[in-house]
Amino acid sequence: MDYNYLIKMLTDKGLKVTPQRVAVLEVLHEIRNHPSAEQVRQQLHLRHPNIAIGTIYNILETFCEYGIIKKIKTDSDYVRYDVEMERHHHIYCESCNSIENYFDPELDELISSYFKYKKIPNFQIKDFNLQIVGNYTNEQNVKTNQNE
Ligand SMILES: [Zn+2]
Repeated sequence: MDYNYLIKMLTDKGLKVTPQRVAVLEVLHEIRNHPSAEQVRQQLHLRHPNIAIGTIYNILETFCEYGIIKKIKTDSDYVRYDVEMERHHHIYCESCNSIENYFDPELDELISSYFKYKKIPNFQIKDFNLQIVGNYTNEQNVKTNQNE
């Protein structure tokens, strides 16, 4: 990952650039596929064993506050992090526990126009995100996801 690009992501949001923040952001973009805080820590500690766990958690929180990453919830109550900030949905595979991004502008349009005429009383919709739960039917897919 381009170092300057990571720095720009921080400065664009008005965040001070620190070596720790850059390191965490780099790892998040390396893993990409919705890591837990623990996965971020493991990967980070391979190269930066001296960054304290508390610091990692604080940085992840700050990134969420500043809209650099998003928290996503899973059924197991584990928080996982998402670096993809474009609108997308998630495909949860029950057998391999993977969370894949699902992009579908046609579906977004459908949901948007639905809620344009069918309003939820006293509620202003800001965003939506579908949780699509199931199982991969193709062996190849299951294998690929387990390796990630
Ligand atoms: Zn995602």
